[in-house]
Amino acid sequence: MSRIVYVNGEYLPEEKAKISVFDRGFLFSDGVYEVISVLNGKLIDTRGHMLRLNRSLGELDMAAPCSAVEIESIVKKLVAENSVEQGLVYLQITRGAADRDFFYPENPSPTLVMFTQSKNLLDDPNAEQGIDVITVPDLRWQRRDIKSVGLLYPCMAKMEAKMAGAKDAWMLDADGYVTEGTSNNAWIITQEGTIVTRQLSNDILHGITRKAVMALAGENDFSVEQRPFTPAEAYEAAEAFVTSATTFVMPVVKIDAAAIGNGLPGEMTGKLREIYIDMALRTE
Ligand code: PMP
Repeated sequence: MSRIVYVNGEYLPEEKAKISVFDRGFLFSDGVYEVISVLNGKLIDTRGHMLRLNRSLGELDMAAPCSAVEIESIVKKLVAENSVEQGLVYLQITRGAADRDFFYPENPSPTLVMFTQSKNLLDDPNAEQGIDVITVPDLRWQRRDIKSVGLLYPCMAKMEAKMAGAKDAWMLDADGYVTEGTSNNAWIITQEGTIVTRQLSNDILHGITRKAVMALAGENDFSVEQRPFTPAEAYEAAEAFVTSATTFVMPVVKIDAAAIGNGLPGEMTGKLREIYIDMALRTE
């Protein structure tokens, strides 16, 4: 059955949905996006995603085609139209179609596109087994705080991981510290039980799940430090994990050649995953 997708004011069967070849999202990656997960037909942390969307737009001086409230109601309608019980909504805003010119157009007419993907997020075999990651240099641009659609380097890094038989890659800055995963925030738990993740800056995406997990860790009296860490420190960690909207808290059991802890998903990681999912399922 064909999905219903949203394109610039219309709800269309996916085969009918079209975007101009002059769209700046296509020509210049001049666009931003959000991915919101859906559990039991309900959107998780829509507010956080809308705030970040607004911030990404602001940083790029990009106009939205409608208000955040309207975007939110389109998202909800699309989830209902497609009967998504579990999965995600992808939404993208670009600066729209214009004659090809590096300068932003004076009267842009932004493009808004959304589609859903049904997917079992809760029973993810990766969460049972944990994933392995390799480390690669972080060769992305330096405004990683903007959730732009320019994702070619993360694609290249994921392919490098796949070629190496791993599931994902953690990227390293010029000083050798981990920035984040290709599509997630990276965390370790030290042998002393301190949860460590890199502090917010332009070096990483300000993950919505990162923020929620940080708050939940605080409420549960876990100690959290926001600072950079190296792969060498990570190899010696008791546990490691990544966070993102669609994977929640995902255990990492191997980094490069090093098994983390006993090579199985960590206990605290499991607890964080559980409390995050509990909180998400209570979403109204
Ligand atoms: N970092 C990067 C580079 C990402 O692409 C993502 C996922 N979009 C994240 C972190 C996690 O962010 P969130 O928790 O908001 O999904």
